[in-house]
Amino acid sequence: MLIRPLNIDPDNCFIAGAWRAPLSGKTLSLTNPSDGSTLCHIARGGADDIDAAVLAAEAALAGEWGKATAAERGRMLSKIGRAVLKNIDELARLEAMDVGKPLKQARADVLALARYMEFYGGAADKVHGETIPYLDGYTVYTLREPHGVTGHIIPWNYPMQIIGRSVGAALAMGNACVLKPAEEACLTALAFAEIARTAGLPDGALNVVPGLGAEAGAALSTHKAVHHISFTGSVGVGKLIQQTAGANVVPVTLELGGKSPQVVFDDANVEAALPFLVNAGIQNAGQTCSASSRILVQHSVYDQVVDAMIDRYQSLQTGPALSDLDVGPLVSHRQKEIVENFLAKGGDLTIAAQGQIIGDAPDGGAYVAPTLFADVSPNHILAQDEIFGPVQVIIPFDDEAEAIAIANGTDFGLVASCWSENGARQMRMARALRAGQVFINNYGAGGGVELPFGGTGLSGHGREKGFEALYGFSVLKTVAALHH
Ligand code: NAD
Repeated sequence: MLIRPLNIDPDNCFIAGAWRAPLSGKTLSLTNPSDGSTLCHIARGGADDIDAAVLAAEAALAGEWGKATAAERGRMLSKIGRAVLKNIDELARLEAMDVGKPLKQARADVLALARYMEFYGGAADKVHGETIPYLDGYTVYTLREPHGVTGHIIPWNYPMQIIGRSVGAALAMGNACVLKPAEEACLTALAFAEIARTAGLPDGALNVVPGLGAEAGAALSTHKAVHHISFTGSVGVGKLIQQTAGANVVPVTLELGGKSPQVVFDDANVEAALPFLVNAGIQNAGQTCSASSRILVQHSVYDQVVDAMIDRYQSLQTGPALSDLDVGPLVSHRQKEIVENFLAKGGDLTIAAQGQIIGDAPDGGAYVAPTLFADVSPNHILAQDEIFGPVQVIIPFDDEAEAIAIANGTDFGLVASCWSENGARQMRMARALRAGQVFINNYGAGGGVELPFGGTGLSGHGREKGFEALYGFSVLKTVAALHH
């Protein structure tokens, strides 16, 4: 089955530059979360397909791709980025149908993917080692070399952005990649592989094996010929992958969940903060690792902020992805059930406001109305657990010390923001907040691909995005030459 015009064969794996039926002979059906219809069937890749993909990656490293200079790799990535942009309409539509995200958000993901290719294309030949002064008669220097075969296990919420930041950086450093996209949404991963092939990426440099986590994912994360694993997904699976990769002493980057706070002080420009407070919670229906699901507000501006957020929530419209409203469906009925179970746990709380699901949203869609809770205790389960849906809680606080204690009072540490016009407070908060990224008077900084990203605590470890990722996707070798 070919999906035109992107020319992908979704019930196949993409290995060594070609579409290959999964060796298991099995497929999985992919559902359109906007209406519950079957979009298409995808390959249910297994351990044998992962083996084939790893072999193809090894062959690429031994061949043209392994021999490419850094500048050639960079040019290749830049070319792929331009090809991505040419396909923006089709890619956005595919992502909207597959993930359920509103079309304009899907378009933003395509732009981000293209920008990652541009960034890592430009950076590929700018990573160098250094010379180290040492004993008389020695010349010592360091080399940055690729790991070899890198494994990329990604979730369904931002396939294109995560491919951009992990596969883009890995290819820039000369690795060959095996990508296992999520079983809920994998079409743009396959489309990207086809676009890269058409742009001239050598066969085997990027291989894609769709399938189940427990099958294809587990096979990839335990494969002895894979030299680095980049995992983005849930805490539970992240812990498992760390253990299994640990058995092979393979380095792992874990990009996991979050419960990211925005802290609004009484000296903040509240007007400027308001759009960020809500958007960071409902973007992609809240299915964002860096979603801001906790809004901490100082007492003296509390009513003002709560009232404004209620106003915004009441105008939010939820409906099919292709209708391009504020919020789309969740990715699946399973995810909807998870979110609804959380909402039931908020039964002791008062709902401050809810958005609307539009009247003609199809019955089979996985819709949940965006829901805002106010006056929530910091220890309530809705203020502690990652919900991964369009749900935000507002928590009042008295002073800076209490704000820091609440903000840092979860097991996560992915992103945090501080809204204040006081420069000294901004600096104090930037240091005090336990998070891999801290934003002052904004949230997300427009998603800039240049900004290193990653967590602490249960949010994971290692950094992707920006230049920093290039270090993670390479190995430092020290050479000490004695030349008496
Ligand atoms: P998930 O962990 O269930 O799945 C993620 C990927 O892991 C999928 O490809 C899945 O097939 C695979 N997988 C599942 N079980 C596996 C196993 N036993 N071995 C190997 N691979 C396996 O996560 P999800 O529900 O798809 O995604 C949501 C989670 O991802 C949330 O917790 C979210 O916060 C997190 N996330 C984090 C980031 C980040 O950058 N920090 C970005 C997006 C999503």
